[in-house]
Amino acid sequence: MSAAVPNLTPSQDAREFLGRDHRLFIGGEWVAAGSRETIEVIDPATEAQLTRVAIGGKDDIDRAVAAARKALKGEWSRLTSHERTKLIWKLADELDAHLALASELEVLDNGQPLMIARYSIQAFGSEFLRYYAGWATKITGDTIPVSPQGVRNGESLTYTRREPIGVVGAIIPWNAPLLMAVLKLGPALAAGCTVVLKPAEQTPLTALLLGDLCRKAGIPAGVVNIVPGLGETAGAALAAHPDVDKIAFTGSTEVGKKIIAAAAGNLKRVTLELGGKSPMVVFPDADLSRVIPGVARGAFFLQGQNCMAGTRLFVHRDIFDRVVEQVGEAASKFRLGPGMSPDSDLGPLISAEQRERVMGYIDSGRTSGAELVCGGEALPGRGFFVKPTLFANTNMDMKIAREEIFGPVLCAQSFRDSELEAVAAEANKGIYGLSGSVWTRDISVAHRMAALIDAGQVSINCHAAVDPGIPFGGNKQSGWGREFGREGLEAYLKTKATTVMY
Ligand code: NAP
Ligand code: MG
Repeated sequence: MSAAVPNLTPSQDAREFLGRDHRLFIGGEWVAAGSRETIEVIDPATEAQLTRVAIGGKDDIDRAVAAARKALKGEWSRLTSHERTKLIWKLADELDAHLALASELEVLDNGQPLMIARYSIQAFGSEFLRYYAGWATKITGDTIPVSPQGVRNGESLTYTRREPIGVVGAIIPWNAPLLMAVLKLGPALAAGCTVVLKPAEQTPLTALLLGDLCRKAGIPAGVVNIVPGLGETAGAALAAHPDVDKIAFTGSTEVGKKIIAAAAGNLKRVTLELGGKSPMVVFPDADLSRVIPGVARGAFFLQGQNCMAGTRLFVHRDIFDRVVEQVGEAASKFRLGPGMSPDSDLGPLISAEQRERVMGYIDSGRTSGAELVCGGEALPGRGFFVKPTLFANTNMDMKIAREEIFGPVLCAQSFRDSELEAVAAEANKGIYGLSGSVWTRDISVAHRMAALIDAGQVSINCHAAVDPGIPFGGNKQSGWGREFGREGLEAYLKTKATTVMY
């Protein structure tokens, strides 16, 4: 089998966009990179070059940070919260108005199926922006009923103000590029911060489109700056920059640790959304008509290139064989192909490098004694396609069960204990704690197990339930802090306490 590659010519709008001279977006202008260096942007479904974009270095990051600092002190700080709400809402409207182009660019650049791109850009792009647009007018402090330093009650007043944290450096990965950018911009703009965004080197296109949309929405110059570049240069310069107040990072645990080290120079604030190896725990009374499709999607959504992916399946031994067989059948039915083809359920992996990494893990699974149930192969021909792969009888001593693969590989193991603590102890092994799910009709088991799973979010009878209002983030080495919801906003605010003596 090889991936069918129909003739999927990009639309006129996409061709025009790709044909542009792609520069850096700094201070509201498209400017040339100091070094004049560019990198090629590849379609992972065809391996064809889509375009080249300018990449920024340390000097460009300096310029972008200066523009963000100037904007922070300028017009942006004088806008009312209502005006910020309207601007963020306008940005959401612009994103909706450009949904077709944004989705197509995302598919060409990242490989994900078009339907997923369209749906997610609406539900987690524009709706996420609107959710945070609403927060801009709801940022309030407290009055504190104390009388410091022995003054009599009623002779002083203490109140807090919530102020924007300042200039934010946002560094994001390639797996859902536009959403990742919006997840940083929404709360940052609602809080009154300014931003320098560095997209992933493999997927700069929709970040560049966002530059256009910010201009169209009337976001003041310098409030959002976008500098494509390499992690080791542009990303590192941003993380270490002495005039950046916070880094909001999404990416691997390994790079997350480098961000912390780089941030130590000026003790800037850091929030981290990192890797995962999330468990899905299936009890014998679970409704298999929900479990099978739910678990298959939980594992293989975005080709498994999803931080929340359920990659470790724990099934009670009474139903283990049946569940494994049926999940294997469901996985084998996913149609692999270019994201632009309406017949594709799963797209390619992001790069040849990622395909080799994933295949390396699959080889290690075969040699470590796990049972290959389905998949296990890359497709020949062009495009970085790997079949959805299921291994049974894995255990946590195996590399495939322990390490984040970030590809379409699911590991299944059985449990026999009726002791929930013992099941949880196995599910909680490893360095990650991002997500998890519990599948059962027994509400006591469901809630007790959900409480025992050491993760930032747990879903019951579904996997990876997300919404702009539901806090999202990781325990252990899956991250620091939470995005989404009120907590996601608070990560962009700092508190000032003011006391007046009458
Ligand atoms: P990555 O290699 O950690 O890269 C993430 C971003 O950091 C990219 O923009 C990258 O630039 C940049 N970067 C690399 N080295 C840097 C350095 N020394 N200093 C500053 N920035 C640097 O991750 P990835 O391969 O793009 O994405 C996959 C990872 O992201 C997985 O581990 C996945 O679990 C995680 N992820 C987590 C979440 C979450 O919300 N928890 C969501 C999605 C993905 P380059 O593009 O040039 O490498
Ligand atoms: Mg990378």
